[in-house]
Amino acid sequence: MLAQPRGFCAGVIRAIDIVEQALAQYGAPVYVRHEIVHNRHVVERLRAKGARFVEHLSAVPAGAITIFSAHGVARVVEIDARTRDLHVLDATCPLVAKVHNQGKRYVKDGRQVILVGHAGHPEVEGTMGQIPAPVLLVQTVADVDALELSAETRVAYITQTTLSVDDTRAIIAALERRFSDLVGPDIDDICYATQNRQSAVRQLARIADLILVVGARNSSNSNRLREIGAEAGVPSHLIADGSELDPDWVAGVETVGITAGASAPEELVHSVLDALRRLGPIDVAVLPGIEESVEFRLPAELIRALPVSSG
Ligand code: SF4
Repeated sequence: MLAQPRGFCAGVIRAIDIVEQALAQYGAPVYVRHEIVHNRHVVERLRAKGARFVEHLSAVPAGAITIFSAHGVARVVEIDARTRDLHVLDATCPLVAKVHNQGKRYVKDGRQVILVGHAGHPEVEGTMGQIPAPVLLVQTVADVDALELSAETRVAYITQTTLSVDDTRAIIAALERRFSDLVGPDIDDICYATQNRQSAVRQLARIADLILVVGARNSSNSNRLREIGAEAGVPSHLIADGSELDPDWVAGVETVGITAGASAPEELVHSVLDALRRLGPIDVAVLPGIEESVEFRLPAELIRALPVSSG
């Protein structure tokens, strides 16, 4: 049983399109800071086409085409790129950029910004580095309790996009208990893709005896999908592709639920189905769910370069 929706979100599609379109328009190599999205298969495919992945801009030759990943970057990285005269194409997901802007607005309003997210994640580093004031990171309710701020501090929170409303509810409730003047983004400002994939895996957990989440180990949203399956009491595993399927997991299992993180291509879901088929006959169905229609526009310079359709 396949979850609906699963796999690529609009931000990931846009980021991959930016690399492909940049290669088509400017030729190889193009440089990408960090993995464009957290998936090795995607990265390898783009590398084969001429993308070069670097962790630091110091590895990019002056003037070269440089793409920032979907996770966003800190302000110092943007300044560094400008100083080195790099030709930047920004693949930061518009929903991540929206969080940056919310944070900046709160600072302008004189508030102490608190970011709910995972330490060390590139999106969190980018967001903290975009906001022109010190940002406090909280990962747990205990972190909220440990904040050295008075109850009257004017506080605002923002959240990492790959956490959903459900994930952050307990932390936000703790913030509300601690601070009398707290503001945060509207509920419908969270990432639609994260919320939809998490709702779908909860639905899947009601009927599946086993859940397989296709995604990379370093993909935050994929790890979260696996945790949600496990929290619902269903044995749940995160696998990169069909080669990681352990036949012992499916022994005696009738319904296998499969989903995929926002950075996992559908072909990897097919590789898991193929691996299951090698163990015995299977019927494949898709659990009815939300049909997504969100699309994000490419940067203007790439849109202009798209070939004119002959139709
Ligand atoms: S998961 Fe959400 S925030 Fe992250 S890239 Fe996809 S659409 Fe953007």
